[in-house]
Amino acid sequence: FCPTGVLTIRTNMDEVWAALADKDTRVVAQIAPSVRVAAGDAFGLPKGTNAMGKIVAALHRMGFDEVYDTSYSADLTIMEESAEFLDRVANGGKLPLLTSCCPAWVKFVDTQFPEFKENVSTCRSPQGMFSAVIKEYYRDPAHAEGKKTVVVSIMPCTAKKMEANRPNSYTKGEKDTDIVITTTELIRMIKNFGIAFDKIEPEACDMPFGIGSGGGVIFGVTGGVTEAVLRRLAEGHDTATLEAIANCGIRGEEGIKEAVVPYNGIDVKICVASGLANARKVLEQVKSGEKEYHLIEVMACRRGCIMGGGQPIPAGPRSKAARAKGLYDADGSMVIRKPNENPLMDVFYNGYFKGKAHELLHNHE
Ligand code: SF4
Repeated sequence: FCPTGVLTIRTNMDEVWAALADKDTRVVAQIAPSVRVAAGDAFGLPKGTNAMGKIVAALHRMGFDEVYDTSYSADLTIMEESAEFLDRVANGGKLPLLTSCCPAWVKFVDTQFPEFKENVSTCRSPQGMFSAVIKEYYRDPAHAEGKKTVVVSIMPCTAKKMEANRPNSYTKGEKDTDIVITTTELIRMIKNFGIAFDKIEPEACDMPFGIGSGGGVIFGVTGGVTEAVLRRLAEGHDTATLEAIANCGIRGEEGIKEAVVPYNGIDVKICVASGLANARKVLEQVKSGEKEYHLIEVMACRRGCIMGGGQPIPAGPRSKAARAKGLYDADGSMVIRKPNENPLMDVFYNGYFKGKAHELLHNHE
């Protein structure tokens, strides 16, 4: 308790309970990749356990109508960001391309390095993309069936609450993400509801948006976005190709990592940074001409979203390593590893959402 209120963090759990209690509301959840390897900490599961199936089951018990994995829209992010990157390279666009998944990093560029604002990808974050897609789907009266839709996003940090309120997080004048709760708020809700999380049987996500690739899952750890982009750009999908990408220098918990990857006759220079002190160092080096890159991935939290401020604490060295391993293990056990091989990507681009990618998946200011 902070007597001055300075340290008070507003929770959004009551808004979720209210939406769940309204029978005229369809409540749809999306769960960020990093949440699955941290939520189990609060229920005595071994560190880094992938508890995604249990989280899905718990949300179903609470009354959520549909539960999805944000790795679906992480795949969309890779499709769009890769296309944007190739377009900038081919047509002399602003380089290096800076990733836009982390709202704290985007805010950092806005306020500390405004000269790099045009370098930031126009792609919405996976949270923003997924919410816009869900809301668009249920704008169709044939899908809505007379119900209002509320999107609840379960994320590893409070920066995602700020992102959901940004002016560019609205589509057709409507807020895309209605409510954001952190992993710790999710844990409190599970406990308040009386669910025996350690005993609940895992359940699968719902359809029509319930498939994500392994590339989407590793978004939760530093270097994961870049690895997914490289998978997208690679021709093959055999084990040797995926291992070569994993070992090119972008994995590991160092705060700044570099890699050079040949692609279509150019040596693509990549930097992966986590932690804003490291990001500052990288941008200063680019500004001074000391370093030159084509692509820079930044996550504001050291080691990425697995260590987000909304995740259970304390998380010592054992937790940090276990959470990263948990995501890589989850990726390794998946049938679809490359975002572009997710069958729902074809459904998105050539089916119901055909022609809507720019409107739904990009920031417009
Ligand atoms: Fe949030 Fe940290 Fe992930 Fe950025 S890196 S999205 S601040 S958890």
